Amino acid sequence: MRKLVLATRNAGKERELKLLLAGLPLEIVSLRDYPEMPELVEDGETFAANAAAKARQVAVYTGEMALADDSGLEVDALGGRPGVHSARFAGPGASDADRNAKLLEMLKDVPAGRRTARFKAAMAVAWPGGGCGLPRVLEVEEACEGRIVETPRGIDGHGYDPVFFFPPAARTFAEMTTEEKNLVSHRGRAALAVRELLFKGPK
Ligand code: IMP
Repeated sequence: MRKLVLATRNAGKERELKLLLAGLPLEIVSLRDYPEMPELVEDGETFAANAAAKARQVAVYTGEMALADDSGLEVDALGGRPGVHSARFAGPGASDADRNAKLLEMLKDVPAGRRTARFKAAMAVAWPGGGCGLPRVLEVEEACEGRIVETPRGIDGHGYDPVFFFPPAARTFAEMTTEEKNLVSHRGRAALAVRELLFKGPK
């Protein structure tokens, strides 16, 4: 069976991606199987650029097909921030609660009608041995539109879920179950698109 290396060392992310890719005829492993691989460089200005860079680095290093993702939150009233800096928005060592508190503080004078935001998720697949010996890389990107609440709500989920209100469900992502969220979320929809990419191949 063909191998697919997930460009992550995070066991939680590995579990989530394996679930989203379940049923494909692939042996799915992660960078936890390549402990000697150097840290991935992730300094792009878009989610798609970061996902593509990570997938390319892993395909070059391992010689196997690789999949990477990158995601985050764009808030219109903040000119699209935190964007690609979502994970580090409140500095190193900060918690999800710290990041949410910082976001709500920055938006405290922004009225309800101007609190629009979206989650974005990019996923990239790299196939080794493309032109000039470089991997062939294809990306997909999906978004999920919503708005930022005034006070965090809900206990499920992670990251910015408690402050992201999803109008079609009339709830925050943290008030939805993982199954409900995966059906509509940026990541769930990007995973569907990436399954198709993996199925069709690099042509
Ligand atoms: P990544 O692991 O580098 O892709 O970082 C993603 C960042 O965006 C983390 O800070 C996450 O908390 C945040 N993020 C991405 N998707 C979601 C989501 O579905 N819910 C909550 N936070 C998210």
